[in-house]
Parts: sequence; C-alpha cells; structure tokens
Amino acid sequence: MRILIANRGEIARRVIRTAHALGHDTVAVYADPDAGAPHTLEATVAVHIGPAALADSYLSIERLLEAAQSNDAQAVHPGYGFLSENTAFAQAVIDAGLIWIGPSPSAIDQMGSKIEARRLAESAGVGIIPGYDASQDDAALATAADTIGYPVLVKAAAGGGGKGIRIAHAPDEFAHALAEARAEGERSFGSDAMIVERYIQRPRHVEVQIVGDKHGNVIDLGTRECSVQRRYQKVLEEAPAPNLPDATRSGLRHAATQLAASIGYDSAGTIEFIVDDDDSDSFFFLEMNTRLQVEHPVTEYVTGVDLVELQIRSAMGEPLPFAQADITIRGHAFEARINAEDSANDFAPQTGLVTHLHVPEGVRWDSGIEAGTEISPHYDPMVAKLIVGGPDREVARAKLAAALDELLIGGPITNAGFHRWLIDQPEVAAGRITTRFLDETDVPASPPVESSAQQGANAWAIAIRDVAEPGPWGSLASFGITPHQRTRMLALESGDQIVSVKVNDHVGPERPTIVDIAGRAIVVNVDGHSQTFRVLTRSEHWAPGDDVGHGSANATVAPFPAVVAEVAVAPGDDVVAGDTIVVIEAMKMLHTLAATGAGRVDEVRVAAGDQVAAKQVLVTFHETALTEEP
Ligand code: ADP
Ligand code: ADP
Ligand code: MG
Repeated sequence: MRILIANRGEIARRVIRTAHALGHDTVAVYADPDAGAPHTLEATVAVHIGPAALADSYLSIERLLEAAQSNDAQAVHPGYGFLSENTAFAQAVIDAGLIWIGPSPSAIDQMGSKIEARRLAESAGVGIIPGYDASQDDAALATAADTIGYPVLVKAAAGGGGKGIRIAHAPDEFAHALAEARAEGERSFGSDAMIVERYIQRPRHVEVQIVGDKHGNVIDLGTRECSVQRRYQKVLEEAPAPNLPDATRSGLRHAATQLAASIGYDSAGTIEFIVDDDDSDSFFFLEMNTRLQVEHPVTEYVTGVDLVELQIRSAMGEPLPFAQADITIRGHAFEARINAEDSANDFAPQTGLVTHLHVPEGVRWDSGIEAGTEISPHYDPMVAKLIVGGPDREVARAKLAAALDELLIGGPITNAGFHRWLIDQPEVAAGRITTRFLDETDVPASPPVESSAQQGANAWAIAIRDVAEPGPWGSLASFGITPHQRTRMLALESGDQIVSVKVNDHVGPERPTIVDIAGRAIVVNVDGHSQTFRVLTRSEHWAPGDDVGHGSANATVAPFPAVVAEVAVAPGDDVVAGDTIVVIEAMKMLHTLAATGAGRVDEVRVAAGDQVAAKQVLVTFHETALTEEP
C-alpha cells in the first residue's frame, strides 16, 4: 500500500517509520519552507504542494487529494494538528476512494464540538464539568457563569491546541474573557461558539489512550499525565499518571472505553479528563481527541504497542491483535516537548539554522530537525520530542535528566534547559502537579555564557592541538592579546555577546561539547541549555593590522565584556599611540587597552570597578589635540 502523510515535521517522520516497517510506501508532502526537510527525504516520494501559507498547503484539502491521486496513494494518514480532526477532509479522502487512517468522519464530527462531546459523555454516564452550552447569547452565558460560580473558563466549542480559552475570575472579567475567546475561536477555528465551565481550582490533566477497530472492539492503553502545561498547552507528559487512587485510575479507563464504544470508535483516540487534585476521587470529562496524540510515545513505551501500526491495521479493517486482558502497563516514561523558544525570554519563539545536533544514546528522539534544518517561522515551535523510560518513575526521571544534560542543539535556543530545570522541581519530582504549576512558578534565567565559553574554548584548543595539520585554524583562531602577552586567547561570539577566554588546553571539558573546527563553531551543554559559539578570527575581532585593536583614533572601546581595573588617563591628557588608556579584567586576565594614535582625552566615561559591555565606548579623544595650541 502507498500512504500519503498529510503533515510535516516529527509526526510525518514518525508515521513514515512505521509505514515502512510494515512494508508500505509513503508519499510526503511539503510546502516551500520545507523543501529538503527530513520528512521529505525519508518518504518513498515527496511532493511539493504549495507556498508557506497553510491554507494553500498543509490545510488545502484539494492540493492534498491531488497529491495523493497523482502519486497513486491508496491511503491518507493525517498526523495530528492540521486536518487531522477535520470531518470534511476525512470524508473527502473516503469519497476519493482512499483509506482514511483515522476514525470515521461521524466520530470526528461528534467529538469535534465540545458541546456535542459533553452531551455524548453525559449519555455514556461519564461525569462532565459543571457548565453551560445551551445558548450563544452573551447575556445568557454571563448569567450561566453566575450560576456556575466563579472562576469560570470560557472555551471555544471547536477548540484545540489550547486556543480560544480564557479564564474569568469574577463577573467583571467575564465580558472581556468572552470577547477574547470568541475572537481567538473565530481566528483559529472559524467559529466563535463558546461553552462556559466551572474552573476546577486544582486541575490535573489525566487522559486515557484508547484504540478501537471496525469489529466493535475498544480497549484502553492506560493513563497519561499531562498536567505540566503552559497556556493550556502540554509541555512534559508521562505514562502512567502517578499518584492516582486505584479506583480513580480504573474509573478513568473504564469511562474512556465506555464513551469510545458508545460512538463505535474504530481507531486510536484519546479521552481527556480533569482530576481535581483537592478530591482525587472525582474526575470530569474534558474532551476527546479523535487522532494520534503528540504524547503517544509514552504510552507506546509502557505498553509496547505501536499506535501508528494499530491505526493503519484498523483502517484496513483488521481486528485489534489483542484484547484488554493482554495489555499490561510496565515501567514509566516521560516525554519532553522540545520547542524552539527562549524560556528565559517569555518563551519567545526562535527560528534559524540548526547548526549541530547530538542526541544521547538510549533515548527515543522523535524529531523534525537534523543538523542543517532551518527552523522557519511558519510552523509550530515544537521541533522534537525526547522520550525516555525506565522500570519506575524515578529511574525514568533520572534518565531524562541525563539525556537533557547530554543533548546538544546548535543554533536556535530551545527549551531543553527549561526542561532540565523543570524535572528537578520538587512538585514535578514528586509527581504532584496541577496545570497551574508553571503559571505560578518563576522560570529561571538562562545561565551566563562566560562559564561555558571557557569549557568550549578548552575543548577547541584540545581539538586544534590534536589536529595534525592545524592549517590556518591555529593561527586564525588564537592570538596574543597584546605584544607583551603571549597567552593564547580565543574570542567567542554567542548571540550579540563576545566573550574573550584564556585557553587552557590541558583541561578537557566537563560538559558535553561539540567542537566543529571546519565550521569554527562550539556547542556546549550547560544545565541542559545548549549554548552555541562562533569562534572569531583575528580579523573579525580586531581592527586589521591593529594588535591591541580596541577602538578608533577617537575612542577606546571595550573589545569584550569586562570589569575596568584601572583608568590611566584623565580629561585633557595628551596621549600618543601605544599609551595605556584603560586596563580591563576579564576571565581573571588583565588586558591593556592602548591608544591607537595621538590625541587629547576628551571624556572618561568609566571608572575602576565598572562592568562594561562588548563594544562599549570607555574614553573619547580629540584627534587634533597635539596640533592645537594650549
Ligand atoms: P495533544 O492534545 O496531541 O497533546 P495538542 O493539543 O497540543 O496535542 O495539539 C497538537 C498539535 O496540533 C499542536 O501543534 C496544536 O497546535 C495543533 N492543534 C491541535 N488541535 C488543533 C486544532 N483544532 N486546530 C489547529 N491546530 C491544532
Ligand atoms: P484543547 O482542545 O485546546 O486541548 P481542552 O478542553 O482540552 O482544550 O483544555 C485544555 C486545557 O485547559 C486542559 O488540559 C486543562 O489544563 C485546561 N482546562 C480546560 N477546562 C478546564 C476547566 N474547566 N477547569 C480547569 N482547567 C481546564
Ligand atoms: Mg485538550
């Protein structure tokens, strides 16, 4: 069979992997920014479907079907996100005579609306969150909020991915929350239909993986905890959910299969619940996702099943190869979503070239990136998932820590260091988290680059030393700082910072480090954060032909971040080339900044003890000073 994957990134690669293992061919699709992306290289064939605009590429039913038909695909797998929960797409695939690798369009349709889903859950005997969905009238919704009791959550009925959700803590916040949620719902889903629910104060997000076939079988594959969330989006997931009373766990699993069976569900799906941490005996239906879930690998780890294989087999009409009694949950697994974002800077999305990549052994790495992949601004910031498991939760967590300490991603900043911090937080370590945890906890700043620069420079020096023929690199990259000091220094650039480091090639790096001599790059792991440095050449760092190079004839400029040790001049002083102007200290080394020409000191802008930044002007001159009569 030939399967078209109507998706991109890590999930397209994930589906391709299993499809090929089962002996199927695959068709990858790609938009302009994904030309040459890993998923296009791994598929049997890759088809260009359009420009960056989603509506003309990954969300274009017409173009996807055209790609399927002109490449003889017999089946379509939608991945997650994009059109995976779009009834019209599922129906169009079926109408074109192709196999839809997902649940029936009617199941997608029924669960696609949170309003309809609440009704179905209720009639299947599954508890729902007290809420209101009977009318879209603003006043009726506001009155309902009063009746439900504040705080309430306003949620887009067609919502997904955490979009279109706003909290109102009190009546005076309701109108604003409703307006914002409606606008975001309209923008994201083309619908401003809303439901109002009681906001569960200490919510845990616990979900159940289920899988069904076309022969009336539905079984569950256990629980997952997804309570570590930011803005209603999952960050770190695990299976099974820890610290649940046995009755709650079996109640959740039973409720999930009941509900799925009640709609004749025939593929992989997830029922999401809220467990009230103040009362772990009670749980409420949240929604059903009628697709493969981002976090499905943790379930695969603890059950040993391949969910994509089950999806493909049930779509082809095969019965489930096992019964509920055959399923055993063994061990524990975590998944860290690796996003290209700067957690220390309000999680600002990061883009750009992934220059280097090192993935530890013994982990599962589901990723859309390789060294050489450009992370474009057009798609989701989630670029990879790091999945680790072990016989119990503590072992799995320790393995995740070790993996994050070794992972190296050169180029764009990712949240790997944030994850490293996260998994050591006492609440996470204990498995006692509510979805409010990240909102109520301050995220630490990223570590400064100076210490990793030292590690990187040492590793660089050792690598250079070990290269039999250093060629131009040795002389380009290391240099004497002044004519008097023969110490080898390396100037490293990281972002907009330049750090100058005294090299010690007798000390190997304590931290995992990539040294790329030809690319003049170093990537160092500091507490899980990958810090990328570019090794500056003499000509990049110093003015040409200027050995002490720090500024022009009319200014002395700090060549790198440092502390002022001494200011040797005062306003009005006359100097000639080579006179000491300022002495600065960086990395426990003194550096003399000398005059580059003759002049009279105009302004002294710093004093001993001042911290100065790279390129900061320290002293200015009148160039004409010596020719002027006093
Ligand atoms: P999961 O529930 O599988 O853990 P998410 O809910 O975070 O995953 O969504 C998976 C991906 O799909 C995310 O990138 C999210 O932005 C996207 N997504 C989910 N639902 C929708 C939707 N209805 N419309 C658009 N994007 C969606
Ligand atoms: P989406 O379709 O965007 O995934 P969900 O209904 O699954 O929307 O809600 C997303 C997240 O918002 C949940 O995982 C949970 O953390 C939070 N949430 C949703 N409803 C409630 C509620 N009534 N009380 C507290 N938290 C909620
Ligand atoms: Mg959800």
